[in-house]
Amino acid sequence: MLITRQLMRRRMFPSTPVDKINLFGQDIFVKRDDLIHPHFSGNKARKFAYFLEHEFKGIKKLIGHGSAQANSLYSMSALAKLKGWQLDFYVAHISEQVKQSVVGNYAESIAFGANVVDVSALALSPSLTTIEYIQQQVLPHEPAALFVPEGGRCEYAEFGVSQLGLEIMQWAGAQALPHLYVCLPSGTGTTALFLNKFFVEQGCNIQVITCATVGDEEYLTLQFRQLSPDSTFYPQILPLPKKYHFGKLHSDCYKMWCQVCEQGIEFELLYDPVGFIALRDFLSSKGACDVLYIHQGGVLGNQTMLPRYQRKYS
Ligand SMILES: *Cc1c(COP(=O)(O)O)cnc(C)c1O
Repeated sequence: MLITRQLMRRRMFPSTPVDKINLFGQDIFVKRDDLIHPHFSGNKARKFAYFLEHEFKGIKKLIGHGSAQANSLYSMSALAKLKGWQLDFYVAHISEQVKQSVVGNYAESIAFGANVVDVSALALSPSLTTIEYIQQQVLPHEPAALFVPEGGRCEYAEFGVSQLGLEIMQWAGAQALPHLYVCLPSGTGTTALFLNKFFVEQGCNIQVITCATVGDEEYLTLQFRQLSPDSTFYPQILPLPKKYHFGKLHSDCYKMWCQVCEQGIEFELLYDPVGFIALRDFLSSKGACDVLYIHQGGVLGNQTMLPRYQRKYS
């Protein structure tokens, strides 16, 4: 239990609370990771906790990449600000609409001082991807920079996700739950994998269930494999009733989001509706059981996503 003691000592943020909502004919517990910190919340805060809680001698800059509206851009800009680092965030392209937005992840990151680089505007060889450009032409000239892969998909993420695992294990113990499903939608699958790995290693009756919001189940399994070759750590991937294209609008996602938010907690619009659809189908085939849904933050992105939905479906 060395890891557990280490985690207890290093606790930077207090344990997040657990609320209860009533959905799909039963109570569902909600782990409020959206409340970790106003600017540093959800699973990005868990995945980046390692960087926050360790000293990085000589580091002056953080380098990341991904979508210009990503939750990870905002979290990395907050992390950089907290650490006194510069953030250079490379994106394949930024649309005019995103550039002009005054709310949401992009606008708030710029307000935090993020330097967002539109790689499509650099007139590079078209065959060069964003990540190749960073690796070949940026990082060699940046000895004082720390590079974080897209979405925080790296071993460092295990540190903060284990802290989340410990909080859940202690909470479930206090509730005396005989068996608990922990449900969260996956993008890169980093959070779900390291969380399930923690529960397997601790030998407790807690099991992670997830679904693929980016790509299909096979792609998610591939992402698990890149993080760990040991398949005993892999979370159960719940099937979805149809294909939901990431970032596109789906009327059933919007309906699900409205239904869940009626319970008094605002969830985010990209991942959570798909997560709740998968959970609904899981519970209807399995019957009632104890479920803890992880609120992984990201509601700032609703400021740009919700108006898109309202224009289309109201
Ligand atoms: C980033 C993010 C995810 C996906 O997390 P992974 O660890 O990449 O699977 C899910 N939900 C929200 C709200 C996020 O911001």
